[in-house]
Amino acid sequence: MKNRRKFCNTLTHGSQVLMLLLLQAAMVLAAVAILFGGVFNFLGTSPPEITEPITTTEQETIEYESQIPESETQIPSVSTTEYIETEASTEPEISETIQSTEATENTVPSESEPPETTVPSETESQAEIPVEPIGAVYLTFDDGPSTQITNQILDILKEKNVKATFFIIDYPFDSEKEAIVIREFEEGHTVALHGTSHDYSKIYTSLDALIENFTTLQEKVKASTGYTSTVIRFPGGSSNTVSKKYCTGIMTEAVEYFSNSEFVYFDWNVDSRDAGGAKSSEEVFENVTSSLKPGRNNIVLMHDSTGKQYTLDALEAIIDFCISEGYEFKAITDETPQVTHNVSN
Ligand code: ZN
Repeated sequence: MKNRRKFCNTLTHGSQVLMLLLLQAAMVLAAVAILFGGVFNFLGTSPPEITEPITTTEQETIEYESQIPESETQIPSVSTTEYIETEASTEPEISETIQSTEATENTVPSESEPPETTVPSETESQAEIPVEPIGAVYLTFDDGPSTQITNQILDILKEKNVKATFFIIDYPFDSEKEAIVIREFEEGHTVALHGTSHDYSKIYTSLDALIENFTTLQEKVKASTGYTSTVIRFPGGSSNTVSKKYCTGIMTEAVEYFSNSEFVYFDWNVDSRDAGGAKSSEEVFENVTSSLKPGRNNIVLMHDSTGKQYTLDALEAIIDFCISEGYEFKAITDETPQVTHNVSN
């Protein structure tokens, strides 16, 4: 036991000496370090050497940190691009929706401007499908405007983007009927002249009476819309024989006169028979669609006078049929090739 303790004491003593030695060595080293530091400080060079390792570690830390953020930002940036891509992929849809909304909005208030976004795309899509129309359909409505029918017809034409021709009769200024005539004009239809009066016993008494019947209405339309209409249709058509009752040969005289005037007259080659023969909207539809012929200008006679409910009810189906068959719709102008009947008086 004693020996062991002695040994332990010796060991303790030895370690104490060792610790003293180490302490001294540490102090010497510290003094040397302070000296070096002082010298380098004095020379102004100490920072680099001492700081260098620190700086590198700092740089390393910075690099490491920046790598982490980078990779962190890379991860989010990837997800951002994904997000952007997702946004981008949804963008067209959104813009399409916007475009269509804009188009609708534009179409509703002003008809002249809607095209900006929609028309180009339509023209493009039309250009993509180079389908030649099989013929033209000119929808014509006589004896209006009617406050019961005409606005509804205009609504359908607008919805279907179809231009038509209205052979109108007289209407009062500052009236609902005048507003309809203005609407027809503003929505791109042709406001054509049927005559101030539709009364055969007045208009077919003489050529002068017939001429005046068109010119007075022409002036009125010009006062209402600013548009000088030169497209006309004789009441009963140029082939009517009723006029014989009031003036023999008047239609022959009229055709000759108007053919050499600013006016261009039009009859029709498709009759809806909505003036009497047709007893339902189905019949109006059948009468029109069975008479259409490809490769020509189909001028369809219809009426928008009060009570022509069958015509109104058949209109949408007639338009859809024509579109599905490949016809194009046009409004008559003074440039449209004439469609005329054989004169019988
Ligand atoms: Zn008529």
